[in-house]
Parts: sequence; C-alpha cells; structure tokens
Amino acid sequence: MPITRPQRDVLRFAPSPNGWLHLGHAYSAIFAYETAKSLGGRFLLRIEDIDTGRCRPEYEQGIYEDLAWLGLVWEEPVRRQSEHFADYEAALKRLRSMEVVYPCFATRKEIADAIAATGIGPKHWPSDPDGAPIYPGIYKDLPGGELNRLMWEGRSYAWRLDVEKALELAEKKAGGPISFLEEHGGPRGELGRIPIDPLLFGDVIIARKDVPTSYHLAVTVDDAIQGVTLVTRGQDLFPATHVHRLLQVLLDLPEPRYRHHPLVRDETGRRLSKSAKDMGLRELRADGLSPADVRRLAGI
Ligand code: GLU
Repeated sequence: MPITRPQRDVLRFAPSPNGWLHLGHAYSAIFAYETAKSLGGRFLLRIEDIDTGRCRPEYEQGIYEDLAWLGLVWEEPVRRQSEHFADYEAALKRLRSMEVVYPCFATRKEIADAIAATGIGPKHWPSDPDGAPIYPGIYKDLPGGELNRLMWEGRSYAWRLDVEKALELAEKKAGGPISFLEEHGGPRGELGRIPIDPLLFGDVIIARKDVPTSYHLAVTVDDAIQGVTLVTRGQDLFPATHVHRLLQVLLDLPEPRYRHHPLVRDETGRRLSKSAKDMGLRELRADGLSPADVRRLAGI
C-alpha cells in the first residue's frame, strides 16, 4: 500500500506596508508563527502592497526588521503582491467570463445621492461589515450601448461582484450551500462550519480599472497560489471570509481552514490602529522593551 505523507500545514502573516507595525500586528504575526510551529507547519510572510499609493518601502523594511527582532523566521522569497498583478488580472478575467462581475462607474457622491433619493436616511441604509453603505445598484444592468459609451469616455470604474448571481452560480458548482471552517472563533464565538452569507457585503468591489484587484481578490488568489492551508488573522476580517470562500468556489481554488484571533485593544477597549504610536513596535523597542516584554504586553 502506498504510504502518503501527511500534508504539512502552510500558514502566513500578510501585513500591508502602509504604516509601522504595532502591538496588534505583533500578536497576529506571533499567533501565526506559533500555530505553524505547533502543527509542524511552514510559515510564510506576504507583503500586501496592492495599494501602491499608500504603501512605502520604508514600512516594508520596518516589517522585516520588527519581525526579525521578535524572533520570527519566514521562508524566502517573500511574495509581494505588487509583483503579481497578472495573477489577479487572470482571476478577474475568469470572473468576467462567468458574468458575475460588472463595471460600476459610480462615484462616492453618486452613491450617497442615490441613497438619499430613496428617502431612507443614510443612518438607516444598510451597511457592510466594514461600515460602507451597501451598493444601491445604480449602473447595474446598464444597456450595452450605455456601457460602451461610458467606457469610451474613459470614465474610471470599479468591477463589482454581482453577489446574488455569484452565489447562485457558486452553489450550483458546489452542489449545495457553501460554508467555511472556523477553528478558533469569530467575534461572536462562531466555531465550526459557518454557512456563508456574502450578501452581507452587497455587490462588493473586486477590482478597479487602474488596479486589477482588491484586498478580497488578491488575498484569495495568493492563499491558493502559496498553498496556504490554514489562514490565521484578526477577527476584524472574519466577515470577509464569506466573500473569500465564495471566490474560492467560483475560481476552483482549494479551501483553507480558518483561525481568527481576538484583536489587541488599548486600555479604553479601542482596537489599535496604525496611528497607535504608543504601541508601535519601533517605539516599544526604543523604550528598551525586549521581545519577551512585547509578547507579555500583547498577551500572547
Ligand atoms: N493585509 C491585511 C491586513 O494587513 C491582512 C490580510 C489577511 O490576513 O487576510 O489587514
């Protein structure tokens, strides 16, 4: 009988170099690293720098320095998303051929005006888990002629997922309802098989005219390309998993498991942000804290 070697888990930490790392990042990186170690798995680092306007080389350098200082070791070469736009574009092309994305020319103001015109106040209009208003559907189902005219005018646009159509197609492909596996716990203690509800996000943006990807598309494609079997990240990204799992089914990508961890909060209970200077790893290091002190402070 052939002996099959058990597959080694592949985990990753995927920061965006648009600011200096803080205690929350340290928690997330160590969580991934220690989980990989305890499972005898591999640990990768991925630089999520598709937002070329906000990402800076010095922040990327800071990531390498801070993580090395914390004692983490990752495989080389590091995947930098900005070097792989062709991979995301290929995935977008497949979604286009399935007719589950459409170009949307709406500006923020047009969206706000369309919502105002419904008479439902902006406070009562539903918003997605990131707090953005659910797209009201203007520019959806535009007649072909009108679409061509807007494209010829050179107007800027975003590719939105027609989420209802996409879910219907994905469920057909999967032969039934789709779910993802949460092994650690969502923000409300969700655990085990979670049925997906990507409608939470409405017709979410998947790519833009000038940047052929978005966080959702790039992360889904990269986790598959890098063979990631266990995604670890903060609970703030738990809802995004509904969209990622949908994209995995549509694009015939393997299904990873998920472990979302709680976020590090300051003494007032607020989550740390990139501007949380007092909890920046560079500052803590300059104050004379050791990596062990940082682990204690982060509670990991
Ligand atoms: N790049 C994302 C961030 O810095 C994390 C992506 C992920 O882990 O899925 O928040």
